[in-house]
Amino acid sequence: ALVVRHRMRSSGQSAKALAILRELEEKCGAPVGRLRQVADAMTVEMHAGLASEGGSKLKMLISYVDNLPTGNERGWFYALDLGGTNFRVLRVQLGGKDKRVVKQEFDEVSIPPHLMVATSHELFDFVAEALAKFVSSEGEDFHLPPGRQRELGFTFSFPVRQLSIASGTLIKWTKGFSIEDAVKLNPFAVSPQVGEDVVGELTKALERVGLDMRVSALVNDTIGTLAGGRYYNPDVIAAVILGTGTNAAYVERAHAIPKWHGLLPKSGEMVINTEWGNFRASHLPLTEYDQALDVESLNPGEQIFEKIISGMYLGEIVRRVLCRMAEEAAFFGDTVPPKLKIPFVLRTPHMSAMHHDTSSDLKVVGTKLKDILEISNTSLKTRKVVVEVCDIVATRGARLSAAGILGILKKLGRDTVKEGDNQRSVIALDGGLFEHYTKFRECMESTLKELLGDASDCIVIEHSNDGSGIGAALLAASHSQYLEVEES
Ligand code: BGC
Ligand code: MG
Repeated sequence: ALVVRHRMRSSGQSAKALAILRELEEKCGAPVGRLRQVADAMTVEMHAGLASEGGSKLKMLISYVDNLPTGNERGWFYALDLGGTNFRVLRVQLGGKDKRVVKQEFDEVSIPPHLMVATSHELFDFVAEALAKFVSSEGEDFHLPPGRQRELGFTFSFPVRQLSIASGTLIKWTKGFSIEDAVKLNPFAVSPQVGEDVVGELTKALERVGLDMRVSALVNDTIGTLAGGRYYNPDVIAAVILGTGTNAAYVERAHAIPKWHGLLPKSGEMVINTEWGNFRASHLPLTEYDQALDVESLNPGEQIFEKIISGMYLGEIVRRVLCRMAEEAAFFGDTVPPKLKIPFVLRTPHMSAMHHDTSSDLKVVGTKLKDILEISNTSLKTRKVVVEVCDIVATRGARLSAAGILGILKKLGRDTVKEGDNQRSVIALDGGLFEHYTKFRECMESTLKELLGDASDCIVIEHSNDGSGIGAALLAASHSQYLEVEES
């Protein structure tokens, strides 16, 4: 009788867990019709954001990049790429049209987490010190014409209101770089603060470490990726980041930007940073897990699109689902595994590893559950459910990112086949999620095909490997203070 009772209880538990799973699947559903609504809403918001400052959740930031790299850029340049979990310093030698990137050296440093929510000047001081160290490793071949300052392209992957190509103020932090509370409590917390000139703050930090270097271009990572992509392929018209955060930039016609009151650029074009991470629409398939994640996040109410798509959050959504299963369906046994209650313990790379497990006994899933969440002896059935949760959450994110891309193509009128026009449109993609989470990438690509139909033959997704660093160096080159001297 004991045995029977036990069986009954456990089947009741798994029924409850399966009900939670099915409910998740239903709430995360993103059928084509809904994706089209999302894309249309994205296009509408893009128009609104271009019409007036603050006209939309989509900030549609003007980048001051009205000329993309041509290949003619020459000389040695530095770049600094800050904004994810790592930051990179780069040194490139640009050799002009035929030679292109002659030499490229870089160093990657992970940002100590405490600096992401640091006070005072710690973050930029840390960055400046790493850069100074990197500069000291210049080789014999490094050369600047006499009297010249080193020049730097600064990729800063947060929303910035640009004042020129080489200055701009921070609108807000995203992706766990905190901080509002710190700022409220202590007006001297975190530098740069919201509203502060990012380049001014970096320049001061460079001076503090005694580094004589000029910031010639300040760009978002999407803009850098677009520039880097265009350098190698003239058909690149947009760039998308699917990484810790998510965002897109694209080349807009300047006269389609009502809020731009400056001179019409010679090229007639202006690159726009959409900041699509902050998009939200009633059509988005949101769940109770997303709502709870948002409320408890550092930036409640903001970056909703980002919170259901990007690498910073996917693993955390999965954790929240598993946690509910543990609490309400005793999914991992009679008690809720304590580790499972810790926000952000389950990272997206762990989720990806579990999702890609092809072994018949789902060994990787078992190992991850054990190593990360300290849940041992999981049954195959349990592991299968975990994989399904990963699949549902990743699929939703991937399909929504495809909808976002469709929104941009619609804005550009490149989402349909036009008579006698087979112009190719290339979108440069970068970011860890795109690069390492194969199932996510494949789902995003196949969804985009599904959405585009015949037009998909003209749309190409291209991986721009670390394009944002090179792109920033290229933009530093084309905005060099010595440019005129060189060209005359
Ligand atoms: C930021 C964007 C950035 C994106 C990808 C978002 O959180 O707001 O500026 O481009 O992450 O790094
Ligand atoms: Mg990056």
